[in-house]
Amino acid sequence: MPNYTAKLSFWGVRGSTPTADPATWRYGGNTPCLELVAPDGTQFILDCGTGLRMLGNRWTEEAGEKPVHAHIFVTHYHWDHIQGIPFFSPLYSSQNRFHFYSFRSEFLGRDSLKQAFETQMAHPYFPVDLSAMSAAREFSEVIGNDQFEINGTRITTRWLNHPQGCLGFRFETPAGTIVYATDNEPGVAKLDSSLRELADGADIFINDAQYSPEQLATTRKGWGHSSWLEGVKIAREVRARNLVLFHHDPDSNDKMVDNMLRSARQEFNSVWAAAEGMVMSLGENRVDLVIPAVRAGLRREAHFRAKVCGYTEEGRPFQEETVIRDLTLQGALIYLSHSPKLQSELQVMMESPGCEGQPHSSLRLRGYVVRLEPRPEKDQTAVGVVFTE
Ligand SMILES: [Zn+2]
Ligand SMILES: [Zn+2]
Repeated sequence: MPNYTAKLSFWGVRGSTPTADPATWRYGGNTPCLELVAPDGTQFILDCGTGLRMLGNRWTEEAGEKPVHAHIFVTHYHWDHIQGIPFFSPLYSSQNRFHFYSFRSEFLGRDSLKQAFETQMAHPYFPVDLSAMSAAREFSEVIGNDQFEINGTRITTRWLNHPQGCLGFRFETPAGTIVYATDNEPGVAKLDSSLRELADGADIFINDAQYSPEQLATTRKGWGHSSWLEGVKIAREVRARNLVLFHHDPDSNDKMVDNMLRSARQEFNSVWAAAEGMVMSLGENRVDLVIPAVRAGLRREAHFRAKVCGYTEEGRPFQEETVIRDLTLQGALIYLSHSPKLQSELQVMMESPGCEGQPHSSLRLRGYVVRLEPRPEKDQTAVGVVFTE
């Protein structure tokens, strides 16, 4: 049976500059890079931020000597969208082939992206010579109202409102439509309506959500970015099925992103905050989301009685008693008969058995749902939780 699923992986979700601050680890510190695999296996990369390095390592690990052929779309030339290129190891293998798509910048002229490559790798900015990049590279210029097809996926482009220009991309795969609209600021009527055209009816609409609505209206006005509130407004208007908040500010720690997500969810049900490692699968008229517990740390078998409080997918509060059998220093895998919403908060109260001569004590933790695995045979869901405090 043919595979009708498209897979979208988030390798970098941070805006402006990478962060290595532990307070940002849950959403991740790498700058924009997404991988889209169409149902026929065609590989697309959206933006070449620092997340691209990890994607390259994964491909090298998996493909080994097998040649890679991918189509790479670059939204614009700001550092955070091209900085991963010199560190993308598949570019240094002659068996690989890459086709780049981007617009002609008035500052770079003809073959803008090629120029950006050369400048970025010129001495003394980078030690390796461009000639070491032996993969076949092809460059295509796209403009703000292009439409073309690559192996059955239709791609549409639109200009977005951002200093020195930025393109938004719409990918219509046989499994569903993904719209990638990072780095854009609302407020220019013509471009606001372009963005709506681009996002119309999308299954997944990824939008710039760098600032809070208050910042966007005051101190960050004119900086070229958007907010969760603007994303929600557009998602509602164009009937997008899922909204993904993207391009988190380097100064937004995980709790601040949690708060933006919480506010957005009060206005629109299907909204997610982009997190490094997150994978969305699209197909059979549904979108599934997994956030692999990439940084889950050491796993230990445990046996703690626990009381768990949270909200179900439908938004109803629940309270349940369970036993935690799998614990890491950062989180736990908890089996529940309720299915909480992904990226929602859970209160977990654990009872420690106590040491000899000491009474039982309880531990109250706040967790954040990163993974749901239904276990229909037991009428349960395995819930992956990362502890936040
Ligand atoms: Zn950016
Ligand atoms: Zn930018």
